[in-house]
Amino acid sequence: MSRAFLSLGSNLGERLEYLRAAVAALSNGPSVKVLGVSKVYETEPVEVQEAQPEYLNCVVEVECGVPAVELLRFCQGVEAALGRVQKGEKAPRTVDVDILLFGEEVIEDRELTVPHRGVLRAFNLRGLADLDPSVYIPGRGAVGELLAEADLSDVREYGEGV
Ligand code: AMP
Repeated sequence: MSRAFLSLGSNLGERLEYLRAAVAALSNGPSVKVLGVSKVYETEPVEVQEAQPEYLNCVVEVECGVPAVELLRFCQGVEAALGRVQKGEKAPRTVDVDILLFGEEVIEDRELTVPHRGVLRAFNLRGLADLDPSVYIPGRGAVGELLAEADLSDVREYGEGV
């Protein structure tokens, strides 16, 4: 069994409902057990060309009985089931599910980079710290220590949780 952390984001439509639906869909996976969900954070889109709605983000801790690439497929199925309507890097999306961490594995292949290249973004660090500040990011350090040095000015706690 591996312990993994997923980053969920939504910036289209009923954003909180999409996060809730994604967590429910993840819970229904045969090889995945949801252990916890962070608070929800509202953030500005990063690295986008045109103005886009703000994101709601949260981090989900799972126990996973399959290799990382199979977890990726499952996450992609959840995204598809919840209807990503526009394809393409940085396009607005109903829900995006990324693998932030998969145990302490370091994976660099064509379709999967773990830790995810966005793992140090402030909302991901805050979500990870909600779940477990002692979580270790390979090559970087413990989440709690990284968070103490992060710029949190663009991350707002959202009123409601998943
Ligand atoms: P996105 O548009 O953010 O959903 O990116 C999807 C693409 O990122 C897919 O083609 C994945 O194969 C690739 N990818 C690479 N590393 C990861 C990761 N850690 N989690 C999710 N997708 C990943």
